[in-house]
Amino acid sequence: MTTTPARGPAAARAAAETDRQVRRLYRLAYRVHSIGNTLADPDATAGTVARATARIPRALSAAKRLLALPGVADHDETPYALGFVHAAERRLTDPATRLLTVANAARAAAARAAADGDDLRVVVFRDIEERSRHLVGAARGEPVSGRRGWTRQDRTASDTLQRQAAQWGLTAGTDGRPPGPAGPGHPPVPARLAREAADRAATRARCAPGIRCERPACPAYGALWVEHGGRRWFVCARCLPAENADLRARGFRPDAKPVPGGVPEGARFSVRLYNAAGRGARAVECGTAQEAQFIAETERPFNNTGYEISVRYASRPSARP
Ligand SMILES: [Zn+2]
Repeated sequence: MTTTPARGPAAARAAAETDRQVRRLYRLAYRVHSIGNTLADPDATAGTVARATARIPRALSAAKRLLALPGVADHDETPYALGFVHAAERRLTDPATRLLTVANAARAAAARAAADGDDLRVVVFRDIEERSRHLVGAARGEPVSGRRGWTRQDRTASDTLQRQAAQWGLTAGTDGRPPGPAGPGHPPVPARLAREAADRAATRARCAPGIRCERPACPAYGALWVEHGGRRWFVCARCLPAENADLRARGFRPDAKPVPGGVPEGARFSVRLYNAAGRGARAVECGTAQEAQFIAETERPFNNTGYEISVRYASRPSARP
């Protein structure tokens, strides 16, 4: 520093003030950097993306205001802080961020298609979501230098996905319009997805009679809800004698019989999907037996997914007052 004695105290005060503002710039830079990093997470939800894309521009404006203060722009440590700010700014227009938006729109559209029983769209949208999140994961690179982890193929795949998302109406939803063409006409579908959709449709048709018989190897659907000794499960009418013979052989009274009145009106079904090769389970609630059986046969949250279907009474009082 070449401060002349005459300017001493005033210059020192100005320098201290500049240092204080640069420290503010650093706090801001670290904050915006961590917000930007939430956009590198392949599992980022629509809410996370919305929050980050709203907060980053606000942080950029605040950084601009700090840079306009005396001495801040020229401060030795300012460029390093700005590196974080600019990295976050680049995230806003990064193809990976657009893919996150595509992934979240696809997830929402797949859920709507599932509710509509539109198997083709469920399969297509889940595929778009899966491939988008995979590419977001691959894009995780060094945020400050701007170096990306994408190969040339990844870039091509990203372009293809964004084009598909537009074709299927997924990216039109950003302005609040409901995404997805509603009619039967749709863009071309790869053969593997068409097969998958046909499989889903076949499973749906198979599940139309209701819950599958729980006796191993019995292919019957539309099983009876039976009870024995406080337990209730599903067995078809043809298997009931064999089920009772098994109970007798195991030393129980052979009196398993249909639950009087059957499944009550308004009852719901709970499908517990569990990891048959380890820990983990989740439950899906369904309004009909057909839907419960379909979920049980099509949702595969684990590599080795097993399922249990139980009946829940809508009128059952809650344990809590
Ligand atoms: Zn059976």
